[in-house]
Amino acid sequence: MEPLHPLTRRLREVHDELHGEAGGELRSSIPALQEVDPDRFGLALCTADGHLHEAGDVTDRFTIQSVVKPFVYALALTDSGFDAVHDSVGVEPTGEAFNALVLEDVTGRPPNPMVNAGAILTGCLVAGDDATTRKQRIRDGVSAFAGRSLDDDERVSESEKGAGERNRALAWLMKAEGSLPYDVEDALDVYVFACSLEVDARDLAVMGATLSAGGWNPVTGEQVVPPTVNRTVLSVMATCGMYDGAGRWFVDVGLPAKSGVAGGIVAVQPGQLGIGAWSPRLDEHGNSVRAARACALLSERLGMHELRPEGKGLRVVAAHERREGGRLHVVRLQGPLTLRNADEACRAVVAAAQELDDAAHRPGAVVVDLRSVGWLHEPAVQLLCTTVDDVQAAGHLVRLVDRDREESPEWEGSTPESTLESLEEAVAQCASALRPR
Ligand code: GLN
Repeated sequence: MEPLHPLTRRLREVHDELHGEAGGELRSSIPALQEVDPDRFGLALCTADGHLHEAGDVTDRFTIQSVVKPFVYALALTDSGFDAVHDSVGVEPTGEAFNALVLEDVTGRPPNPMVNAGAILTGCLVAGDDATTRKQRIRDGVSAFAGRSLDDDERVSESEKGAGERNRALAWLMKAEGSLPYDVEDALDVYVFACSLEVDARDLAVMGATLSAGGWNPVTGEQVVPPTVNRTVLSVMATCGMYDGAGRWFVDVGLPAKSGVAGGIVAVQPGQLGIGAWSPRLDEHGNSVRAARACALLSERLGMHELRPEGKGLRVVAAHERREGGRLHVVRLQGPLTLRNADEACRAVVAAAQELDDAAHRPGAVVVDLRSVGWLHEPAVQLLCTTVDDVQAAGHLVRLVDRDREESPEWEGSTPESTLESLEEAVAQCASALRPR
């Protein structure tokens, strides 16, 4: 028997612990959502490289509801551009319920794309000439995030249309303010359709993993939206995703997230993973009680809070060797090259140059070995390169050694010139340059 993966085990522990949690109610304004077994509970986690872990009812389908909002926002930003979308919808948290009749004072815009008014509007900003083509774009785009073709649940959308006075009021309010320059019935039709797409906890985990990987779906390998769009979406999820519970959520859980009234939650740890959680009973904010508890427990136990201090005491300079009678310094780096680590690495290179100067070794040489650096933050590399240039301008020879990163998914920069792949070659080049002719 294959041993249970420890992440699957953690997920199952949390699932089992919350199984008896019966808090919350089926309190939807959509009648069809009442017809569900309130005890169902699915929990899934997908890593940013596409590995799924699951516990409980992960293949039960439910309607996505407001969890669709960040994804529609992503499609609107991709299709209409930042300026057009930001002109139409704000990015400020409201501290109000998701369906509050609130627009921005001066502009009349919806305050953000995570509340109903905002999502009714962003649904108009995805590509398409009419409601039908915009619905198709939303189905295709959200399916690309999930990595499979999603159906919609017409029974739920019909039920919502029959009870949608509040959303209709919101749309007409925007129309009156001049902030919804589109057909009201079409806008509502697209919004209700988007909310009625059917997903399961697994889909939400993959959608979250796609957001965690910069808009790249790790299961299908498709870049669904550009990384800049993705970053904007995560920022707005972090500040507005949990409505009037958003502040407390970020304090406790520390992850960008979005909830829906059918009981789904997607939570994202950028660069790491996505969580999909679902259980139908809701708290007073319209967030699933069990799904929210599950995210909080996972965040706590797996140390996922985004603002936790990280890597205290981690050194990036693994070794500093002197060769050729002290005229050649080899600085070996390890771990990720982050901003803080770049500071340490630059100081080591400057210290080497200082030693060369003090010993009147001019020219001397410094080799910086980056092969054991796992991840390079591009601005950190640029800082290092600036230091390298300074040391070279002072008359010393510098060589960087690194493995080929052109194919690595995490590396978006270009390798600096004078970078070699072999340490021996770099050392030999420097040693021969130092030898008197
Ligand atoms: N379709 C739902 C509504 O408009 C979505 C709300 C939600 O999930 N929070 O009421």
